[in-house]
Amino acid sequence: MARGRCGEAVGHYSEVEAKPVPSEMAEKARIRWLIGEGSRAKNFYMRLFTVEKGGHIKPHFHPWEHEIFVLKGKGRVRIGSSTYTVGEGYYLYIPPNVEHEYWADEELWFICVIPSRPTAEKTEEPVRC
Ligand code: MN
Repeated sequence: MARGRCGEAVGHYSEVEAKPVPSEMAEKARIRWLIGEGSRAKNFYMRLFTVEKGGHIKPHFHPWEHEIFVLKGKGRVRIGSSTYTVGEGYYLYIPPNVEHEYWADEELWFICVIPSRPTAEKTEEPVRC
């Protein structure tokens, strides 16, 4: 990754370590923090997820949203009580505090952008929807 004189950062994803998502949160999933806490970005972080076929990101919720773009593969995403089949080219917005989970039916690659700070009040229970 190159840092430029204006504060920009330019890199290739393959140079970013693909870290396993901890087993309490997922199976067969890796995350690359393309733009994260170590960057100069103040407002948004960009992560690249790769989930092997048969992998699963377990149900969870948190007081910030996700903006997702699916790069390749096929999978399903549950958002609240609705489950969507997604593949290359799909985009998703997942609101704060709504429970969500993902399954990779084929190796799934997606970008997930999050705010650098929570954007909603933390709730003890997920929003019912
Ligand atoms: Mn999440």
